[in-house]
Amino acid sequence: MTNGEIVLFTWSDYVGLMRCRGVPLAELDRRMEHGLGWAVAGQAQSPFPDLAPNPWGPMMEVRQVPIASTKTRIDIWDDAPPFHFYLCDSQVNGGKNWDCCTRGFLKSALEDFKSETGLDFVAAFEHEFMLMDDPLPAAPSFTVETMRNVAKFTQDMTYALTQANIGLETVEPEFGEHQYEVTCAPAVGLAAAERAIIAREVIRECARRLGMRSSFSPKVKADGIGNGAHVHFSFQDSSGKNVTSNPGEKHDASLLTQQFIAGVVRHMPAICALTSPSPVSYFRLGPQHWSVGYASFGVQNREAAIRICPSPSMDPAEMVRGYNLELRAPDATASPYIVLGALVRAGLQGIREKLEIPQALGVDPGSLTDQERKELHILPLPGSLAEALDLMDADSIVREWMPKVMYDSYVSVKRLEVTLMADLDPVEICERYARVY
Ligand code: GLU
Ligand code: MG
Repeated sequence: MTNGEIVLFTWSDYVGLMRCRGVPLAELDRRMEHGLGWAVAGQAQSPFPDLAPNPWGPMMEVRQVPIASTKTRIDIWDDAPPFHFYLCDSQVNGGKNWDCCTRGFLKSALEDFKSETGLDFVAAFEHEFMLMDDPLPAAPSFTVETMRNVAKFTQDMTYALTQANIGLETVEPEFGEHQYEVTCAPAVGLAAAERAIIAREVIRECARRLGMRSSFSPKVKADGIGNGAHVHFSFQDSSGKNVTSNPGEKHDASLLTQQFIAGVVRHMPAICALTSPSPVSYFRLGPQHWSVGYASFGVQNREAAIRICPSPSMDPAEMVRGYNLELRAPDATASPYIVLGALVRAGLQGIREKLEIPQALGVDPGSLTDQERKELHILPLPGSLAEALDLMDADSIVREWMPKVMYDSYVSVKRLEVTLMADLDPVEICERYARVY
């Protein structure tokens, strides 16, 4: 039944929201090549009705051009039409990415990474979220009861995510009240970010169809548990082999991996403005609840901003295959394109400068004294979005990663978010973001 079916052309913007325009299914073929026009002032939107100061005004337009490989069509509901959409590139004339296209930002970071290292970047996101209007009282963390209370939701979600073909791996209860986690399989480059964007939107739809809302906001309640969007990643050569590990070297990490980690640790405080980019992000980030408060590195250490995750296998080949890294600061108020772009850029900088890997931390950095952290060169992550933006502004390397017009307009939107929340208390800020994300 395709009568009335609409296909959405969607894109993930600066504030990590998936904006869209739609065409009737019958119009799809003729729209595939040039997509739909879009007034670029829309890129200055905050998560709220307010628009940030921007250089565009009413004039300029880009084309939102659908990417065929991202076609997603979920058709599992008797009482609702299929959920049919494509992700888009924001293009200017000649088919180039617009300077402010978030997908373009990741694309150019990946191209530089590939041309300088010969390797592909592989990644997977973990999605933590809360079901907001679950009529049943919260059951204890991680229990079967939590899962079975929402068995219809998790069944629909499993079916829908399988149709979405994002490599669904796990669906499980998390630590917080009404909190769940979904993970998808690793994918190369852009596809990793696309999977994350698609997965979140499909999860939202499954909750919506059952009269509930899901929220991926980093802190749904000021005194509650945080929702992270951790990123696992590795590097692969042209034969598809995972080359992140080199057994026998420090922590069994290849030299390139060691340098990559060093680059990420060095730029971590500044890139929080890209990976944890909203006022509410800073109610989540902080030590002692596994949501990371310091720019530190560890092996297996869940209080480290970046950690090595060794494979559980004892088989040497399997150990190399499963070896990966995890970045723990990101949350879902950031576009996955921007998160991965920032991560790749920070790591690549470490490779370019041949930085030395910091000492692996075997404890929660929050349990050390100021003096001990100073001796280990461990910096705190910013305590607010305003501070994160100042740190990014002060990092001359990070500032150069985006075309100037993108950097300036991104900062303009983020500064507006700071202003909009300035007079609100944490409870209200959490409520506002929980409604949007
Ligand atoms: N919910 C935690 C966070 O905010 C992470 C818990 C975990 O390690 O999965 O990042
Ligand atoms: Mg988790």
